[in-house]
Amino acid sequence: MINSNWFNSMFIGEVAARSLNFLWNPRMWSRRAVSSGLLLTASLYVLLPSVSRAFNVKKGPLSIEESKRLDRFTTGLLNARNDCFLNSSLQALVPIESLTTYLNQFVEALHSVDEGQVFELERLAPLHANLIKLLHELQSLIVKPQTVSAKNIVKTLEDTLRRKMSSDQNDAHEFTQILLETLHSEYIKLQSNIEIGSFPFEGVSSNYLMCLQCNKYSQTIHSPFLMLEVAVPGNYSEKLTDLILHSQDEIIEGYSCLYCKVNMILKNEKYLNQLPEYSQEEQSILNFLRNQILTLYINDDLPADVSFYVDHYSKNGCVTANFKSNIIKKNAVIKEPASLIVHLSRSIFNGATITRSACRVEYEQSLNLQRQVMINDAFERTEPIKYELKSVVKHTGSHVQGHYQCYRKKPDLMKERNTDTIVNRSPMIKKYSQDKFDASKIESIITGTSKRLYKRIKSLAAYPYWHISDTNVKEARTTDVLSEDKYVYILYYEKEKP
Ligand SMILES: [Zn+2]
Repeated sequence: MINSNWFNSMFIGEVAARSLNFLWNPRMWSRRAVSSGLLLTASLYVLLPSVSRAFNVKKGPLSIEESKRLDRFTTGLLNARNDCFLNSSLQALVPIESLTTYLNQFVEALHSVDEGQVFELERLAPLHANLIKLLHELQSLIVKPQTVSAKNIVKTLEDTLRRKMSSDQNDAHEFTQILLETLHSEYIKLQSNIEIGSFPFEGVSSNYLMCLQCNKYSQTIHSPFLMLEVAVPGNYSEKLTDLILHSQDEIIEGYSCLYCKVNMILKNEKYLNQLPEYSQEEQSILNFLRNQILTLYINDDLPADVSFYVDHYSKNGCVTANFKSNIIKKNAVIKEPASLIVHLSRSIFNGATITRSACRVEYEQSLNLQRQVMINDAFERTEPIKYELKSVVKHTGSHVQGHYQCYRKKPDLMKERNTDTIVNRSPMIKKYSQDKFDASKIESIITGTSKRLYKRIKSLAAYPYWHISDTNVKEARTTDVLSEDKYVYILYYEKEKP
């Protein structure tokens, strides 16, 4: 692992970009792993039905029947076969405010057009339309246990990708990637039809190489990403931020650096200066190199004759073909997503079999990262970015079988001091506004709520999360969520508002 003090704040790995390319290709729907990233992206599977296993709702006076509290229950998802990977992945998206705000732009567009155009927009973006319906149900405040099905989401994905979701296609990370990728391709289509802001999960990383011999750079390549891939080692424990930082740099040995080779040639020629008779062709190549060297990238494309000359240069013991140096592959986030999804790849390949890393990955409610500011493709400075934890998907079991569950942040409810009216300060999906609960008792988003008028809800302060295992919902403390270090599989963070 390299520790570069001058440049220590990138947070996107190459694997993420690779996986992204793979997932942006719908033909790969039935494949399980990226060939080049096989070990890192191998999936965690579910083979057993997951109903209620190892997950018992505490029996209390209010646990089964109704609760007066609006933060006691939330809607669970049916598990028809081995759907816990799907249910957990979808539940995790519910509290992501930037997603809600983003989808509401689509809702507004639907409201502002006539019926025929509604049909056209829903045809363009069927996953948007169905996700809006589902998230609306999952965001609605309820007073007693309730369950819905996510089968429309599966059907939409199957129709869009013209593939059946196979019964062994059940890794939560893979499902989430495919879901995001499909949403993103719909987003591209929507952009030319409605006014819509940026896609909440899309970030841009910039990847480049630096030669450790000459300290020169390669040209920079910008790649979009939707999810951050982090490989979890077989160690006893690691901090999430360390894993993220370390996943960004990679040392490559035996690189044939163009700058170093040209530099060698020009130094050697300076030494040999008066000795040989140059052909006109060689003279012009050398002049070309002298002119270019100051602006040369370590992987520049040179004209074929120059390139051949550089690669086959051999004079006076100076042989460029023998020259190799070590380089660092750097990955930097230059545009961070509003919502950062981090996948902890826990699969370890020992040469024969794949096992699951039980490394304890310590994570906090706050995630402090840094954005690289690049000017003219050169590193300029870093700027801090702060993310806040919204959801966690955990996986228990082995590499080949297990169960997925989700922790999801409750909405930001407060109580009006005078009337005891509950106010939901989290944005909610706008469509289908008939709440199951008596809507008159809930005001939806109130902006600029004064603290004097509202008070905290004690149960929500004590239990800020729901722990959801398919249809079973119980309340969870922050410490419950953060103690899942052995089982945490996907983390959902949202950028803190300034
Ligand atoms: Zn070099």
